[in-house]
Amino acid sequence: MRCWCVKGFFYKRRKYATIPSEKARKDIPEGMIVKCDKCGKITFAKEIQKNLHVCPHCDHHMSVSSPERLMMTLDQGNFFEYDTDLISSDPLHFEGYIDKLKKDMDKTNLNEAVVTGEGTIGGFPVVVGVMDSRFRMGSMGSVVGEKIARAIEKAIVKKYPFILFSASGGARMQEGILSLMQMAKTSAALAKLHQEGILFISVLTNPTTGGVSASFASLGDINIAEPNALIGFAGRRIIEQTIRQKLPDDFQTAEFLLKHGQLDMIVHRKDMKQTLAKLLDLHMVRGEANGF
Ligand SMILES: [Zn+2]
Repeated sequence: MRCWCVKGFFYKRRKYATIPSEKARKDIPEGMIVKCDKCGKITFAKEIQKNLHVCPHCDHHMSVSSPERLMMTLDQGNFFEYDTDLISSDPLHFEGYIDKLKKDMDKTNLNEAVVTGEGTIGGFPVVVGVMDSRFRMGSMGSVVGEKIARAIEKAIVKKYPFILFSASGGARMQEGILSLMQMAKTSAALAKLHQEGILFISVLTNPTTGGVSASFASLGDINIAEPNALIGFAGRRIIEQTIRQKLPDDFQTAEFLLKHGQLDMIVHRKDMKQTLAKLLDLHMVRGEANGF
């Protein structure tokens, strides 16, 4: 009998002990702390934001929303957005697709998974596109392809270099073949840009996979990636099952691709703007008077 009481006492104490920590957890307003996906350590959101969303403990480059990416890349206040009125339809009548689009629009305040427009980097005018993985995992539907193709056409007309930050799970399954067609459309637009001799810098961020990695993201005159970004076409398990071989641990990382010649450079987020400005400066078409 006594034994039972003691057991009950300890049980109570243990239960009581968990209450303050639960409460403390709830006392921290939502969004005040961020847990790193890689090392699991917790950092104050403000500190992470100041650190350009790079984990101060393990240097993991976390996802960045398109507005934040534009803020950290473009000279402040110099962004003019294109095609804010383009919205996906539901061509295949895929169940729940429209609801999911609406939900992501409300959540992100964006019309689609890519933001395009123009601005300046280090004083050099550019047409820029930034994919946003918060919107349908950055998947490429018809509107994403159309916005990118139109941005490339603007770059051709204005003779501005084109810079695109990719972050995508690939093609958008709810749009089937129409989604896959965007690979050809964006690649054809880039071929025109190339014919015009206009610079295209592709920046691949974590993750850039599927149809996006297999089209415009890999077609840069210069292909840059952020450290440790996952870049690939099919998933590791599918490839291993198909070729019946174990793949290296670093397979599909930016570092692996750099080693095998598929990337030109890996650039830390804190150096990205400066690197882009330097590349733009090197590739700027100088006046004939300068002898260039
Ligand atoms: Zn970390």
